[in-house]
Amino acid sequence: MEPKATVMTLDELRHTAAHVLAYAVQDLFPDAKPTIGPAIENGFYYDFARDEPFTPEDLARLETRMHEIVNENYEMTGRRVDRSEALERYRDNPFKAELARDIPEGEPITLYTIGAFTDLCRGGHAESTGAIGAVKLMSVAGAYWRGDEHKPMLQRIYGTAFPTQAELDAYLVFLEEAAKRDHRKLGLELDLYSIEEEAGGGLVFWHPKGTLVRGLVETFIREGLAERGYQPVITPHVVSEKLYATSGHLENFADGMFGPLEVEGQRFRLKPMNCPGHILIYKSQGHSYRDLPLRYSEFGTVYRFERSGTLHGLTRVRGFTQDDAHLFCTPEQLQGEFEQTLDEALRLMHAFDFDDFEYFLSTREHRGPTDEIAEAAIRNALESHNLPYAIDEGGGAFYGPKLDINLHDAIGRKWQLGTVQVDFILPERFDLKYRAADGADHRPVMIHRALAGSMERFFGVLIEHFGGNFPAWIAPVQAVIAPISEHQLDYAFDVAARLREAGFRIAVDESNEKLGYKIRHWKTQKVPYILVVGKSEMADGTVNVNERGNDAKRTVPVSDFTEELRAIVAARR
Ligand SMILES: [Zn+2]
Ligand SMILES: [Zn+2]
Repeated sequence: MEPKATVMTLDELRHTAAHVLAYAVQDLFPDAKPTIGPAIENGFYYDFARDEPFTPEDLARLETRMHEIVNENYEMTGRRVDRSEALERYRDNPFKAELARDIPEGEPITLYTIGAFTDLCRGGHAESTGAIGAVKLMSVAGAYWRGDEHKPMLQRIYGTAFPTQAELDAYLVFLEEAAKRDHRKLGLELDLYSIEEEAGGGLVFWHPKGTLVRGLVETFIREGLAERGYQPVITPHVVSEKLYATSGHLENFADGMFGPLEVEGQRFRLKPMNCPGHILIYKSQGHSYRDLPLRYSEFGTVYRFERSGTLHGLTRVRGFTQDDAHLFCTPEQLQGEFEQTLDEALRLMHAFDFDDFEYFLSTREHRGPTDEIAEAAIRNALESHNLPYAIDEGGGAFYGPKLDINLHDAIGRKWQLGTVQVDFILPERFDLKYRAADGADHRPVMIHRALAGSMERFFGVLIEHFGGNFPAWIAPVQAVIAPISEHQLDYAFDVAARLREAGFRIAVDESNEKLGYKIRHWKTQKVPYILVVGKSEMADGTVNVNERGNDAKRTVPVSDFTEELRAIVAARR
């Protein structure tokens, strides 16, 4: 006989762990009503209706009980029931009863059992609880029934499970590393930015150090744009709503926009996108084919409505600045323009030390004849650059297909940043034209592209990617001079002046603290170089260099250090 193939996915294993959790809850907290318990990225959760909150001690007890259930290796058995049996079983649990009622006519209603616990579930499990090699409960949070704020608040217990203990251990180490790099924590510790609840969620206050880093990133981007013939433009933050009726954003993107502002009987909107503004600049002049491609760039700040529950540090906000540009070109120029945006994206990613990317081509759900042309241009551009890509069917923008660029950071997490979109629709809606060589008016094609995506999000990703250890070329303070005693303070200022003259960002620690304290403090500030100056350094015109991440100290003349730092900054390290 053929051995039975047991192919179990990680999701099935984790969803089975959710059943095990619900079993443990049934045993220890019989008053709690189970609702739903799916597998999610990195684990699973189960939502329970219960008046009393689950405490950390409760989670520990539940975890112990779960280990027993796993060790019992209960077989997962399913059986089909009719609706009336399901409703009878859940007569005291309105949530499960609602799920049972909502299963469409003709679809199977199934109950799955492990040991003494039975759950209404459509299936997709491990064969037995013993398949769970390691399980851990992580946290508990409130969650509305069916995600609807008008429905009852439930308690969601999050957990994770793996086939082996070693995999769980590795995941916990990863989580610890991710927590250390959390940009919300580092943003505060390094005084880079803040979100002020007084001013409203999702709106970012850039502090001097964060603004400095952002400025350096913007300068780097601007230099690349200038080389490629982009022309910077600036457009208003508030414009007449009519513009978004014409663009189709009111119709297709209303949920993502802030509500109207009324002035003199006219409705205005905070801009959710920069495109219509750039289109108006294009339209304000006649254009011949000789003008094309035209490339308008703007660090354009946009405002989008996001639910308060979804806001997250710098990566999910309500106001952000895109490194945006709109390219107006002929259909023949499309592929070439697309290719140069890919070059530009690679330049950006490599400069900031990312070398692991993924490309996603998202097509439109309702494809028109122009989608063929647009998709072909994107595919050809990717293929000419030997860049592998995956396809997301139906994930495109309402006006055309798009290419998303995802990258992996230093600890392997995936972030979606840049996007490049081909658009035949907005030129049509705004009746854009150029005079072709044949003397007739033709429609240009537009490319929308933002490569860092949003400066806020990009900065958040940079903080986490580097763990706050910004390379010297973008570090807000590149070196700090730490005198051993007050007797070297003048010398410290002298060294600082020489380094500042060379264009570096330098601080002097004037505090009366002991040297050990000063060094510890500046290490927590993640400054690339701490330059200690004592009696002998002052006498010799040297500095004692403590380099971040390097325990070996060395004493060098100030001029040597200046040259060293100059070379490092020039190499963008
Ligand atoms: Zn299940
Ligand atoms: Zn756009």
